[in-house]
Amino acid sequence: MSQQIITPHILRRVIQCFFLFFCLFIGFRLFQHFMWATGQSSVFVAKPPSVEAFLPISALMAAKQFILRHKWDMVHPAGLTLFFAFIWMSLLFRKSFCGYICPVGFASNLVEQLGRKFGLQKELPVKVERILAAPKYILLAGFAYFILIKMSARQIESFLTLPYNYVADSKMLAFFISPSATTLIILASITVSSLFIRNFWCRFLCPYGALLGLCSTFSPTAIKRNPEACISCGKCRKICPSAIHVDERELVHSPDCIGCTECVGVCPVPDCLTTSFFNKKTPVAIIAVGCICVLLLFYGIAVFTGHWYSDAPPHIIQKFHMMIFNK
Ligand code: SF4
Ligand code: SF4
Ligand code: SF4
Repeated sequence: MSQQIITPHILRRVIQCFFLFFCLFIGFRLFQHFMWATGQSSVFVAKPPSVEAFLPISALMAAKQFILRHKWDMVHPAGLTLFFAFIWMSLLFRKSFCGYICPVGFASNLVEQLGRKFGLQKELPVKVERILAAPKYILLAGFAYFILIKMSARQIESFLTLPYNYVADSKMLAFFISPSATTLIILASITVSSLFIRNFWCRFLCPYGALLGLCSTFSPTAIKRNPEACISCGKCRKICPSAIHVDERELVHSPDCIGCTECVGVCPVPDCLTTSFFNKKTPVAIIAVGCICVLLLFYGIAVFTGHWYSDAPPHIIQKFHMMIFNK
């Protein structure tokens, strides 16, 4: 096993913690914005643009509008920027958004660890895994069909300029602030399932993860195993959050691989598991560093070129909030 001070596991957890706290911070700012916009506070707080990352359906429509009409959505411009950033991250550095940035993925990892601690985690037969993986692709196909095929450019433009879309982030906030009984039951069921089956939501149900996974199949980054050096200890397979049979493959290029490099960190044989980029061995941190660089690059370009902050005036945002939340 490598004797590095910063192991792949520590590096990943540091990045995940950073993004978790960042999401909590922007969530709090969104709450303050919501209070102002709905007239419950007189203190104006601007909406943090990064919360638009949580509006992937609106972003998918905006992406179609951009491709068809070369028009950048200025209702949620940061959402579209981040959508493209996450797609490029996956195209270059596997599903690293899931492995390092997404707070839901991090929460799922923590539940998985709890399950491991109490010896609850079970490995599913490959056939069962394949059947369980179908729903996320079916959901993705449904969204793709309605948004990319059925909706015309005019319908997309109408949706994007609806008052509902302007306040979609506040709607999402309200959904989580006062969840219905059904929401709580679903969340509890997913959490309990994740105690027994690692990353249940991410591996079997999340359509966004499915999209990023499909993009990641084009990625030049992969995990390589040297079968001659391998001692078949099975540690890589046991640690893998996506339950990939790393110990049976020479190259891990699965759409489920989140590029977490936990397998590389846990392998007891030096240079038996490595990361590669265009088939060339690379430092193990390439995926972590690569995905952060892509994120910063897209953020910087969007801010510099005026594609990050919405052009909706505050009084319009407040008017739409009053219309929708204070009926
Ligand atoms: S699969 Fe979905 S919820 Fe899970 S980490 Fe990826 S984007 Fe987040
Ligand atoms: S194969 Fe390795 S890098 Fe990929 S998800 Fe599993 S542990 Fe992470
Ligand atoms: S952890 Fe390393 S040595 Fe053990 S099975 Fe995996 S690749 Fe082989």
